[in-house]
Amino acid sequence: MIAEIFVELPTQQTNKPFDYAIPEEWHDLICPGIRVAVPFGGRKLLGFVTKIKANSDVKNLKEIDHILDLEPVLNKELLVLGEWLATHTVCYTIAAYQAMLPAALKGKYEKRITLPEGRSVAEYSENMQQLFCNRISISWDEAIAVVNMKELKTALANGDLEIAFQVEDKIKVKTERVLSLVQTQTQLKELLDSTRKNANNQIKLLQFLIDNPAEITATELMNQLSIPNDVIKKFIDQGILLAKQVELYRDPFAMTSFEKTTHMTLTAAQEAAFDSIAKAIEDETHENFLLFGVTGSGKTEVYLQTIDQAIQQEKQAIMLVPEISLTPQMVTRFKGRFGERVAVLHSGLSNGEKYDEWRKIIRGEVSVVVGARSAIYAPFQNLGMIIIDEEHEGTYKQEESPRYHARDVAIKRAEHHKCPVVMGSATPSLESFARAKKGVYTLLNLNERINQRAMPTVSVVDMREELRMGNRSMFSRELSEKISDRLLKKEQIVLLLNRRGHSSFIMCRDCGLVVQCPQCDVSLTYHRTSNQLKCHYCGYETNVPRLCPTCNSDHIRFFGTGTQKVEEEIAKLFPKARVIRMDVDTTRGKGAHERLLKQFGDGDADILLGTQMIAKGLDYPNITLVGVLAADTSLHIADFRASEKTFQLLTQVSGRAGRHLLEGEVVVQTYTPEHYSIELAASQDFESFYDREMMVRRNTAFSPYYFMTLITASSEDQFTAIEEIRRAAIMLKDGLSKQAIIFGPTPSPIAKINNRYRFQCLIKYKNEPNLLEILHQLNENLGAKTAKSGVYLSIDMNPNMMM
Ligand code: ADP
Ligand code: ZN
Ligand code: ZN
Repeated sequence: MIAEIFVELPTQQTNKPFDYAIPEEWHDLICPGIRVAVPFGGRKLLGFVTKIKANSDVKNLKEIDHILDLEPVLNKELLVLGEWLATHTVCYTIAAYQAMLPAALKGKYEKRITLPEGRSVAEYSENMQQLFCNRISISWDEAIAVVNMKELKTALANGDLEIAFQVEDKIKVKTERVLSLVQTQTQLKELLDSTRKNANNQIKLLQFLIDNPAEITATELMNQLSIPNDVIKKFIDQGILLAKQVELYRDPFAMTSFEKTTHMTLTAAQEAAFDSIAKAIEDETHENFLLFGVTGSGKTEVYLQTIDQAIQQEKQAIMLVPEISLTPQMVTRFKGRFGERVAVLHSGLSNGEKYDEWRKIIRGEVSVVVGARSAIYAPFQNLGMIIIDEEHEGTYKQEESPRYHARDVAIKRAEHHKCPVVMGSATPSLESFARAKKGVYTLLNLNERINQRAMPTVSVVDMREELRMGNRSMFSRELSEKISDRLLKKEQIVLLLNRRGHSSFIMCRDCGLVVQCPQCDVSLTYHRTSNQLKCHYCGYETNVPRLCPTCNSDHIRFFGTGTQKVEEEIAKLFPKARVIRMDVDTTRGKGAHERLLKQFGDGDADILLGTQMIAKGLDYPNITLVGVLAADTSLHIADFRASEKTFQLLTQVSGRAGRHLLEGEVVVQTYTPEHYSIELAASQDFESFYDREMMVRRNTAFSPYYFMTLITASSEDQFTAIEEIRRAAIMLKDGLSKQAIIFGPTPSPIAKINNRYRFQCLIKYKNEPNLLEILHQLNENLGAKTAKSGVYLSIDMNPNMMM
């Protein structure tokens, strides 16, 4: 029997299965989806078995070295999904498999030095004997720390020592010693009577076992009685206790208890949405729903109840949320409803914890997984539904290979499982809303907040006016007054400093002008290093103007205020206010995010100040004021989605206020109050925004009117990169239809990263059946050259970022 195996080496040359012979004794054990270690080019590599067959064209087949799994880690559905992923995102198959599994299942490679078979360490020099110290193999690192390289080289050359490569799992299953009683109570009492009176620990232990005959872990026993392990070991040796190793889950929530919650009575609108989704689950039909509901309209309750519907039909559910929405509040809601049946996967977990959550899923011990992007690969066998909350979020797209969008994977998996996908948002992406309008997705509406709670009132403050009135502070008069008012009333305030990415733009503080590219409808980005303004789309560049081209003011400067600076200003203006600052700096440590939110939730602070990470998921009753310090910041980044992202952010953050009994107010400070994304976010009018923005997209030929693919060539040598991107552009021009628009080659917006020069080519197209084939061909042609010239090609289908 022969196995086809993809080895864990992501290169073009190894992007195909290799044949290996399966040793006789493993014929029953090896099947597709199992990981094995195989000899490859003089070392050993981890590989995935993808197929078993009877014959191979290869002569002198090598044998599989050893098996890493007894059960497949990838089932048939996921193996096929991996191939699909590799084809559609143009990545290596092995990269697709790795992306679908927890990092713990990647191979750990160790190089070791061993004695040849049949040799004994006694035959070696004293130096070697000391090193090996009764072992037959030692790690390479240990060896080279002691033996000099020359001696080692000679020993290896004349066969006195050998190199061995070991492949094993990165992270081991955690186990624990569990003790159970072998003897009866009477026997224990007899023992107690015959024990020496000064053997305190033994007496303590016997007494404990008489009182508590149940199973107990060794750790717990030692902790409870503060006795050393020796005593327990003695009891095991004497046959009083029996020890066995039991598998253990590393559960970050093990110490938290969640209050059980039950279903709420749905509102009419919630019920209508629920019925449609529940019907698709019951009928086992694949259908894509867009659940369009304002913030606080009860989407999450609909998720919870439809998931329950799936569970009742003995199916499982995946709930995707953006990483930043995986707040303790969200986890509590799911754990509270489904208890032990939920696995939670987020980036704050250690690799071991993630592995353990994954094992609960593959063993069918849980029915629901709540997690960020990669949870879409949860190895459930019988999916009943997939939910993508905040479906418009950019984090659903992975920005490294495989560059997949979780929405596409969700739809693919749901087709296989014949189940619905529910995408929820208060501000759907233009792409999804357009599909809903066309009837590709079924639109479900939740138009009102629960209990007809009012949407917060939003006032837009023109910061140019503030400047004219002589107010140079970051706080408008209106916002300062309202902050003082809430501080007095002991209500809570959320302040958002909208600062996406690192790009800064040049703006005139007198007239609000932002310097634009003359050839594209995007603003120019300020490049600090060259002190120039550049267009990220067409490559146009110009010097930074000293005076505003429209009003001649010299108040023209690049923009960017930090959260720290705001914090200082708050301290000056409102010295008594207690502030919690949340940004990348204060949330770096494990659990910091949760801790800060909890403090705020517990009322330990008056003001929560932060970047967009605070815009979502907060549901605290005492928040009655939300202030957005500079709404423009995300408007003028060089991104065709800038308006959409601004609208989304303002809507999301406004949704944090007045979710409960107290009414909410929002103050949005801006230098461009007349911009439609700000005006329409203030009036909470998604559909008008959609119409308006769709017009812009049509005129500029962007998504959703066009698909896009971004190709980037990078190399340490500028000319090699240029040559490669030119070659790609020629192949694309030759292979694609006349309707495809090809921009470039141009230098990438970030023209050099890590000393590698980057050039790009952007394709816009509607229907190009040849495109995938050309892209794969590009990679294959390049494959042979890569090693020599160090040039890499990255291919990004439907890119989120054009960097
Ligand atoms: P969304 O996910 O759309 O922002 P949520 O599901 O979080 O909305 O609901 C907002 C608030 O309303 C929550 O506090 C939730 O507990 C409550 N809620 C949701 N559905 C109902 C209902 N049917 N009856 C009463 N309260 C509800
Ligand atoms: Zn001006
Ligand atoms: Zn341009």
